[in-house]
Amino acid sequence: MDEDIMSSPNRLVECRICHSEDEDSNMDTPCSCCGTLKYAHQNCVQRWCNEKGDTTCEICQQQLKPGYTVPPLPPLLHYGSSPINFGYVLNSH
Ligand SMILES: [Zn+2]
Ligand SMILES: [Zn+2]
Repeated sequence: MDEDIMSSPNRLVECRICHSEDEDSNMDTPCSCCGTLKYAHQNCVQRWCNEKGDTTCEICQQQLKPGYTVPPLPPLLHYGSSPINFGYVLNSH
């Protein structure tokens, strides 16, 4: 007996970034990763690029496919922009 299983056109895959499941048609495969790791939401990948500041996959070390952008370099964090006065002595009377 052979059951004819309709292969569903959309199967659920897990976004490797936000770990939520979605239909693979909603997912992107931005790099050369294979298996379940290759799927990610386009928005998630873009957000990831924004946070990382580059478009290279950390797993497969491939450039993500065109279409993903990186923001301009974030402004340097200015710690200690106000000078710290060492040797400031409290004079108590
Ligand atoms: Zn996602
Ligand atoms: Zn990859």
